[in-house]
Amino acid sequence: MAKAVLNKRLLTILLATSVRAFAAEPAQLHLDVYTSSAHGYAVTSTLVYGDKELLLIDPQFLLSEAREVVARIKATGRTLTTVYTTHAHPDHFLGVAAILEAFPSARYVALPQVRERMVTAWPARRNFWFPTYGDDLPSEQAILPETLATPELQLEGQHLPITGEQTGLDGQGNSFVHIPSLRAVVTGDIVFNSHLRPPADTGPLYETLARIAALDPLIVVAGHQAQGASSDASVLQFIPTYIDEFRATRQRVASPEALIAAMKARFPGLGREDALEQAATQAFAPPAAAAPAR
Ligand SMILES: [Zn+2]
Repeated sequence: MAKAVLNKRLLTILLATSVRAFAAEPAQLHLDVYTSSAHGYAVTSTLVYGDKELLLIDPQFLLSEAREVVARIKATGRTLTTVYTTHAHPDHFLGVAAILEAFPSARYVALPQVRERMVTAWPARRNFWFPTYGDDLPSEQAILPETLATPELQLEGQHLPITGEQTGLDGQGNSFVHIPSLRAVVTGDIVFNSHLRPPADTGPLYETLARIAALDPLIVVAGHQAQGASSDASVLQFIPTYIDEFRATRQRVASPEALIAAMKARFPGLGREDALEQAATQAFAPPAAAAPAR
């Protein structure tokens, strides 16, 4: 009798211990990257999901491509809880209209500075692109994100820290999201895994890349890439290699066309040839005529 009580007590303790161990075990997260067509600027949307919940980082540019992201979210069987925009460029937020239409209870969030920039960026950029894309863009009425009180996202109990106000390959004001359990970093336009426009001063960009590298990631998701590109961390080495090659080639060729041809031959199969064309034109333009950033 006494032995039976003891066994029962032992069993209770064992059960309690295993429940605690289970509760402490973080959910296995999964990562899936959707890349738009070249028509939509080859922009990425990153789906991160656990057992039940899903969050989306950068909700696309065009409504038609955001609807493809909607289908991909539905296929996971998870609940979209949160949509995050890394920075206030239209290719990283206008598609949110289609996402929230499909999932009206999801929270749309951003850092305070990004939200502030979107107040004017949404109508201005939407109207700028409307002649090109028409009804594939939402209305000029901005859908503004909620401001994050602390710079992090949460998914099934895991904390995903955000580092904001970073300079990347498409200017300042960017942010990156770290997913520690996946050793992954989602970088918005800090990183292009494609042709790119080398900045005149690479110092701030390389400081940001060093901050990302210090997290020792295995996965680095670029803001732009060719469809089917891998998201491994080697892109952090690719960027300085590309920029060095671009600068060296600029010194030995006589025209933007020759620069474009040489870079395409050196790096075949990369997306965003439009970025290379802009960079090459700018590299041969007199300083006063340099093209403004998009
Ligand atoms: Zn972008």
